[in-house]
Amino acid sequence: MPDKKDKHRFDTLAVRAGQVRTPEGENAEPIFTTSSYVFESAAEAAARFSGDLPGNIYSRFTNPTVRTFEQRLAALEGAESCVATASGMSAILSLCLALLKSGDHIVSSRSIFGSTTMLFTNFLEKLGIVTSFVDLTEIDEWAAAIRPETRLLFMETPSNPLTELADIRQLADLAQQHSILLAVDNCFCTPALQRPITLGADIVIHSATKFLDGQGRCVGGAVVGGKDVVGEQVYGFLRTAGPAMSPFNAWVFLKGLETLNLRMHAHSENTLALARWLEAQTAVKRVYYPGLESHAQHQLAKKQQTGFGGLLSFELHGGREAAWKMVDATRVISITANLGDAKSTITHPATTTHGRLTKEQLQQAGITDGLVRIAVGLEDIEDIKNDLLPGLA
Ligand SMILES: *Cc1c(COP(=O)(O)O)cnc(C)c1O
Repeated sequence: MPDKKDKHRFDTLAVRAGQVRTPEGENAEPIFTTSSYVFESAAEAAARFSGDLPGNIYSRFTNPTVRTFEQRLAALEGAESCVATASGMSAILSLCLALLKSGDHIVSSRSIFGSTTMLFTNFLEKLGIVTSFVDLTEIDEWAAAIRPETRLLFMETPSNPLTELADIRQLADLAQQHSILLAVDNCFCTPALQRPITLGADIVIHSATKFLDGQGRCVGGAVVGGKDVVGEQVYGFLRTAGPAMSPFNAWVFLKGLETLNLRMHAHSENTLALARWLEAQTAVKRVYYPGLESHAQHQLAKKQQTGFGGLLSFELHGGREAAWKMVDATRVISITANLGDAKSTITHPATTTHGRLTKEQLQQAGITDGLVRIAVGLEDIEDIKNDLLPGLA
């Protein structure tokens, strides 16, 4: 069934890929809430455990609802394999612990999710896995940071909150020249807007918590890529170490995938409208959004993505005081750091998501006191503009 459906187009895969109908004839995907599976005989149990006979043993290893989600997301990213995980962070942890050993080296973009930076510096470093951080947009810095023991290049594009882009094809070529794996955290675009594997990346990471769910309900993640690296190595780590996705969460994400393309384009349309409007406001010094002609990498965004995404940030003239007033003056938009929700969210990066950075690190990252980030939801954009007006005044 998945083979036949793999030949279909994106929107069909998003609705149907990975579904295996049971003899009950259900149309919607069932939730298999079972921890273990029953065997016909002792001999069958032995054959399943030895791996001679494929099939379910225990839901830490495999679960039919989770498998449907994995096959559907793999199909959407254009990959052979996907392993679902309990969170986005456990996806990154599983990738690193499955593939790396003491003495190995990572080159990572400096502009990545805060917890990922902490994972690399505070925890992997304890195991002797060292990370060098480079500027996302500077290909020469990436090349210069590569050592003989480098095993992984890691990045997010566009970055959060400043929406800088990396040229995925260029970095994939660099990785290939050095026989290094390139992993892209595709959380902000999702495969609806950007498919890194088709551009040469080896691995895609997801926090399913964000746009894959799309309505802010569940925490989950995924590692997507080739059969050997993801299907064998990452899966081997996951079934032993255990950061598995729950079947209920997998079912919520499956429903999210069915509307992914519609939602991502609606988020993009709303965000572009808001970005253009903010650019015309006198209180606003600068707007960061790849869909704007004023964005330094607008051409690359047009080439690499099929939409510009649901995240923008802008800098106010009045510094931190103006930024906090702006946040506090909203009545509709939610004051929360989460993103990828139908509900628009607003945050002040310098004192929340990036609050643990030092003054120098903030400066290096370009995160000023006057910067505000909005993850634009699916409300009517005129109501969002009206909600921002008091703060701008
Ligand atoms: C949220 C996020 C993560 C972590 O995902 P969780 O599901 O919260 O563990 C990783 N990368 C990016 C880019 C994120 O936004």
